[in-house]
Formats: sequence, structure tokens, C-alpha cells
Amino acid sequence: MDQFERLSQLPLRDDLRGQHPYGAPQLDVPILLNVNENTFGVPLDAKEAILKAVSDELDGLNRYPDREFTELRRALAAYLGHGLVEENIWAANGSNEVLQQLLQAFGGPGRSAMGFPPTYSMYPLLASGTGTAYVAGVRGDDYSLTAESAAGQVRAQAPNIVFLCSPNNPTGTAIGLDVVEAVYAAGEASQAIVIVDEAYAEFAHAGTPSALSLLEGRPRLVVSRTMSKAFALAGARVGYLASAPEVADAIRLVRLPYHLSAITQATAVAALRNSDALLANVEAIKVQRDRIVAELLAMGLAPAPSDSNFVFFGGLADPAAVWAGLLAAGVLIRDVGIPGHLRVTAGTEAETTAFLDGLRAILAK
Ligand SMILES: *Cc1c(COP(=O)(O)O)cnc(C)c1O
Repeated sequence: MDQFERLSQLPLRDDLRGQHPYGAPQLDVPILLNVNENTFGVPLDAKEAILKAVSDELDGLNRYPDREFTELRRALAAYLGHGLVEENIWAANGSNEVLQQLLQAFGGPGRSAMGFPPTYSMYPLLASGTGTAYVAGVRGDDYSLTAESAAGQVRAQAPNIVFLCSPNNPTGTAIGLDVVEAVYAAGEASQAIVIVDEAYAEFAHAGTPSALSLLEGRPRLVVSRTMSKAFALAGARVGYLASAPEVADAIRLVRLPYHLSAITQATAVAALRNSDALLANVEAIKVQRDRIVAELLAMGLAPAPSDSNFVFFGGLADPAAVWAGLLAAGVLIRDVGIPGHLRVTAGTEAETTAFLDGLRAILAK
């Protein structure tokens, strides 16, 4: 009997039967460009500050941590600016947990959440885990999403929650604030919570506005961010949101007490005190991102415009073979299951060169 047959004999919830867990491959490969991590790593100054902060926590580790993580919320508000204060901030173990908590509070049985695929693959999984129906909206042929189209779909479906991912994963492109404004207005009838997932905001081209600027006067709007990408802290698991204070009050009804460990809080606060050092490589990553787009175009491929730290590209006759060929060359990228396409994270200059050289060699065959 294999593991799946054994699973099917357990008294699992009916709505989870036959489902597959999130599973980007975690392979032991020299060059990892598959899950949009910041491959530059944590700079020495920041490492030392985090080590000191964590070590200072050890004396109090017999006690539960600050349930309200007040210092962290204050530091995150200061980082975001836009006049935000600690009451506007909530944080959890990765923005995935933040999104799950939002679904626990505002979704659930009999309610629905809407996303616009291709988009972040966790939205339907988080919906199913919380018993929330997932409604898949549609985009234009070029994966664009206009204000008119998105608002029309929200009006027609009347979801309880809307996910707008900007810059969007896996396509990499940011949406205009007109889309957020229109979706928010269209969600009035169903009182939809509109979540703008800005996990990659720090990588956007200069002048790309953040939905943070729309929070004032919009109590159903939530902007989600993470320290996993630009801050190079994916392993620390810290994500957060900015919203009206009442949204955090709603989440307090569903969060586990003390969900952010003292170690996590200390790590994140120390990292935010060193944000200049941690974010120093963002510009270098953007250079490699733009280089990938330019070189893929020169190879005759079709990269999507990217405001993130990755590039989604089409024009591949056999993406599975290209993915396997790169893996054999020691470069792991992501097959997101879209015909003719693959996605690659912008790494260091050397990693990016290895990817481009490997791809050129495969396409020449
Ligand atoms: C990577 C990513 C996140 C971040 O998840 P964490 O749980 O904060 O690591 C959130 N949203 C999108 C769209 C992402 O690609």
C-alpha cells in the first residue's frame, strides 16, 4: 500500500481528499533560482546584529513572547512610512500565515475568495485549507488585468475576499493603482476584503506606486508584504500586512496566541534596524533581472515585463526539456505549469550568467 492509499484510509476532510500539497522541488543543486529568494544572502553586519539580538533573548526564553510583538509592529510601520503606525500593522510567520489568518477571519465555509490566475499558487491552497471556495477570474491574453475587467468580474462574482498580486507571481508584472481602486469599489456590494499582495514591491521599477498609498479611507483594503524576498530572510519566516486597525483586531480572533516566537521577533527587529544593509543588493538584483529580460529577447524568447526579482518567459517549444537540461547543468529554475513558459529568479551576476549560458547551450541543440 503506498502513502496515498494509506492517506485515503484516514478520516480526512472530504474537501481535502485528492488534493496535493504545495511542493516547489527542494533539490540539492549548486544554483537555486526557483523560489525567488534573495541569493545574495544576509550581509555580515546584519548577521552580527541578528546574532546579538537573538542571544539577548535567550535569558527570557522560558517566558512566552510579547503576544502583540509591539516593537516589531512599530519597526515595520516605520519601514513602510505612508503615515502608518503600529496599530496599522500585523505580522506572522511569513506572509503565507498572514494570508491564512485573513482567510480564517474573513473567509471560511459558505464564503469565497477570488484570484486572477496565473497568480500565486498558494491562494487556492490557503482557501481550501480554510474551507473557503476559490473563484478563478480571468486575465487578458497577455496576462494583463485591466481595472474594467477586474472590477466587472468582482461585481459579477461578489466574493468575500479578492487577491490582487502586484507585482504578480509568476508573471512578474505590477498592476496600476486604478485596478486596486476599481476592484475596491466593485467589492462594496459584497463588502469584499481586497488583499494586495506586494511580496515583491521592493523590486519594482522606480515610480511604481504601492497600494499603501490607497489605505487611507479604505477599511476593507489590506496590503501584504514579506521579509522573505528583498530582505533576504526567507528562512526567518516573517510576513506582515498594513491595513485599518480593525483588520488586525479581526485577526486577533483567529491567531494562535504567541504565534511569533521571541527569536523571530528579535531577528526581524534587528533586521529592520539594518534594513539599509539588507536591502543593499536589491539594486544589483534589479540589474540582473533587466539583463535576463534583454538577453532572453535577444535569444528570440518572450519574457514578460518584470517589476519583481524573477522573469517569466515564453516562446519555449519544450519547457520541461529546458528545465531538465538546466537542472543537469546545475541550475534549478521553476516550471509553473504554463505551456511554453518557465520562470527564473534573478540571482547574483555569476548565477545569472550560468543560467543564461546554460539556456543558450540548450536552445542551440
Ligand atoms: C514569495 C511570496 C510570498 C511570500 O511568502 P512568505 O510566506 O512571506 O515567505 C507571498 N506572496 C507571493 C506572491 C510570493 O511570491
